[in-house]
Amino acid sequence: MTRDEAVRAGLVELRAQTDARAARLEAELDALTRARRSESDDDEHDPEGVTLSSQWSMLAGLLASAREDARAADAAVRRFEAGEYGICPACGRPIPEGQLEARPFRERCVACS
Ligand SMILES: [Zn+2]
Repeated sequence: MTRDEAVRAGLVELRAQTDARAARLEAELDALTRARRSESDDDEHDPEGVTLSSQWSMLAGLLASAREDARAADAAVRRFEAGEYGICPACGRPIPEGQLEARPFRERCVACS
């Protein structure tokens, strides 16, 4: 495996992981939404309802960031396929390896972001 192939495989793997995380959170949120709907038939002031809604907000936040990551992962794979991965579009210079290691989906170098 060449270095390029290894980088590509790593990005594709990360994209699969972020997709799976988003799908899992979506399913959890879905289940919670259904649970909350059946709760509200009973008593509006049920303390259980409060727990469910704060749990819902938390999951919704996690889902939003998982979707954001999944989008970034997908964009990184596309950039790689276009031969643009690891090149900062703002300054046109290669992004230092350490910066890509810390955040593989990074689009711009630290100086430009
Ligand atoms: Zn730059």
